[in-house]
Amino acid sequence: MSERTAPRTAPLRARAEIDLAALRANVRALRAHAPGAALMAVVKSEAYGHGAVPCARAAVAAGADWLGTATPEEALALRAAGLPGRIMCWLWTPGGPWREAIEADVDVSVSGMWALREVTAAARRADRPARVQLKADTGLGRGGCQPGEDWAELVREALRAEADGLLRVTGLWSHFACADEPGHPSIAAQLGSFREMVAYAEEQGVRPEVRHIANSPATLTLPESHFDLVRTGIATYGISPSPELGTPADFGLRPVMTLSASLALVKHVPGGHGVSYGHRYVTPGETTLGLVPLGYADGIPRHASSAGPVLVEGKWRTIAGRVAMDQFVVDLGGDEPPPGAEAVLFGPGDRGEPTAEDWAQAAGTIAYEIVTRIGTRVPRVYVNDEEDG
Ligand SMILES: *Cc1c(COP(=O)(O)O)cnc(C)c1O
Repeated sequence: MSERTAPRTAPLRARAEIDLAALRANVRALRAHAPGAALMAVVKSEAYGHGAVPCARAAVAAGADWLGTATPEEALALRAAGLPGRIMCWLWTPGGPWREAIEADVDVSVSGMWALREVTAAARRADRPARVQLKADTGLGRGGCQPGEDWAELVREALRAEADGLLRVTGLWSHFACADEPGHPSIAAQLGSFREMVAYAEEQGVRPEVRHIANSPATLTLPESHFDLVRTGIATYGISPSPELGTPADFGLRPVMTLSASLALVKHVPGGHGVSYGHRYVTPGETTLGLVPLGYADGIPRHASSAGPVLVEGKWRTIAGRVAMDQFVVDLGGDEPPPGAEAVLFGPGDRGEPTAEDWAQAAGTIAYEIVTRIGTRVPRVYVNDEEDG
């Protein structure tokens, strides 16, 4: 991912400004939401599009105890960048870089016997024990070991490998399906199942350092789910897990990313002028059009055609017609901002600009997808990188 350290006014085609002071404040706010638990900042997928290494550094500076990634490659990249402390990753496939993860002191998740076999073999080769966290499927129906015989076998074999000095079971963990829907019956069911699966493993002799199940929505709304550690992704970046739960401000959070572009062209057109591919927008009368140099290759959802909002010179404008690969057009209603004028797609909202949540609504998706998909062609510009910010 391209990184820039540049003033916010740098004349770039487009930029995703990343406010690291906001990220640090979010980490502190999240710690206050879960005072009895340690905090894992989830920085998978380039920190949800914000840039993994700078965000991981800022999160650690603000007191994150753990970093979490999906893939082992993401975890190894954090170590290679010098990030200290505990790092966990959970999305493994056969042949995955187990030995590299063991040697880099990364906690690895194991959901089934194939993974346990591979990690113990790698530990033998590396001649040092792996740090393994056993993942229970308490009802999500995705990764994780099924309760019952599967769990009993995984626990038994993990304990045997621990006795052989091949691994240490550092954690027992799971993941929610519907934590963003308070009161959903699956939440209580998953908590019950998690308690049972943890109790079983502990009766058998597992002594985990951490038991954890809470993601951002559970961290914000479900204290009984905090256990020893909470894993916050989206909330770290100042975005509410769901608009139904509340706004970022309701939770003391502030959006970290501001996406903006410089208008590439402003021009007068007559009424009846078709705009962009397919002419899905036709100017209702004489007007001005502004060309925004961002498109679906940059992560602007094509589903936001004729819907996505943009702030130009203090006014909300809407995408006119289709989003193309590299650009889209807004109807400026006769206004004549100069070429190069700033078009703000989304940000915290306090300059009157739309938010990532507004874009999610416009595109029929969730704000997670909006920020995560912003492409590598858009430079990330880091601001407020100092510790005291
Ligand atoms: C992505 C992820 C999280 C973070 O989820 P948020 O809703 O963004 O907080 C936590 N745990 C696991 C296993 C994940 O994959």
